[in-house]
Amino acid sequence: MGLPIPISIITMNNTHTSGTGAAAARAREIAAKHVCNVPGCNGPTVGFRKMCGHHQDMLKRRGHPQATLSSPKDWALERAQVLDLFERNQDHPGILSGVSFINGLFLQHQAGTAKPAVDAEVNRLAAAGVQAITVLAEVAAVALYISRKAVRLPTVAAENHLISQAVLKLAKRPRNKSPSALRTCSRGYPTRPSVAALNQVGGQIRNTLSGLLATIAVAVGDQAEAEAKRQQALYAAHRAPFNLAGPVGPAAP
Ligand SMILES: [Zn+2]
Repeated sequence: MGLPIPISIITMNNTHTSGTGAAAARAREIAAKHVCNVPGCNGPTVGFRKMCGHHQDMLKRRGHPQATLSSPKDWALERAQVLDLFERNQDHPGILSGVSFINGLFLQHQAGTAKPAVDAEVNRLAAAGVQAITVLAEVAAVALYISRKAVRLPTVAAENHLISQAVLKLAKRPRNKSPSALRTCSRGYPTRPSVAALNQVGGQIRNTLSGLLATIAVAVGDQAEAEAKRQQALYAAHRAPFNLAGPVGPAAP
């Protein structure tokens, strides 16, 4: 007598629609329970995954199945504010230290780490001539954007993912030619880092720079407040009442 085959393996693809016997009915019953674990989604899971195809795809692209779509255009305002601040504070010790941290990160990945796919991505940035200060400004802009719109991303890991994706988008990624090239390069490792690896890189950058990022957020806030006050003063000046009595002329004869 052989070992009983677990029914979860039989119903792996969850599309057990045919069959009239008791076993098929039981398989359908179990498959019906295997729904996507994203709240509110009733899609069928795919293979051994815990999510439906759509949410699995979103997890891969955005770092979280429920993260909304963001593009570098979304934090254009924050980027402009951060660059303006950097322009005025070129000798700020925090900015200098942040730049040397990013340069160190470039060197570290150039030497090679345990994650070759991440190395390939970071080296692509360095090869395209992306400066450390540009990377730092982008990280600060995304961090500011996240802090302003906290509801857009459901977890810290998803935020870290957005930071690393934003940094890696600073240099154009070469378009892969074939579906197989999408999965592995000639040396056999994946050309795209895993979601976990990207989260880790984003988290590392964010944690190291946390003090600087908080200071930048405060400074940008203060700058915005000063600008608002200036606007208000201008408005008040424009609304100052005119003297309606007119200039005092020569007395009428
Ligand atoms: Zn789903």
